[in-house]
Amino acid sequence: MKGKFDSVVVAARKARAHAYSPYSGVKIGAAVLTSDGAVFTGANIENSSYGLSCCAERTAIFKAVSEGAGKIVAIAVVGKSEEFTRPCGACRQVMVEFNPKMKVLRRGTDGFSEDDTAESLLPDHFNPPELSGR
Ligand code: ZN
Repeated sequence: MKGKFDSVVVAARKARAHAYSPYSGVKIGAAVLTSDGAVFTGANIENSSYGLSCCAERTAIFKAVSEGAGKIVAIAVVGKSEEFTRPCGACRQVMVEFNPKMKVLRRGTDGFSEDDTAESLLPDHFNPPELSGR
């Protein structure tokens, strides 16, 4: 049975193969689906100067936004197990900036599956409308 978000989950699984993580060995893939049906992928990208690393989720969101994509309606995050599909605090804040109602489809290659929303992952978030560019 095909679901509405199957294509974005498949894209995130494929994107995981492009993770650049020579330091941690952790591979995460992400993909966003926009209101106009476009899909943008991302993978975690590490750096020898660790603080410069970027998560898969933000890589995918920034690609979508920088290319003028429509509203982000869903993001899929794929890691090897449940723990690796939990977005970090920075990614949660970036998600609510672009759509607090964004679906967050968390999938583990071990079979873990859970659907959340950005706002449920970051309750009482900072996002005053008068400061938001949206
Ligand atoms: Zn993150």
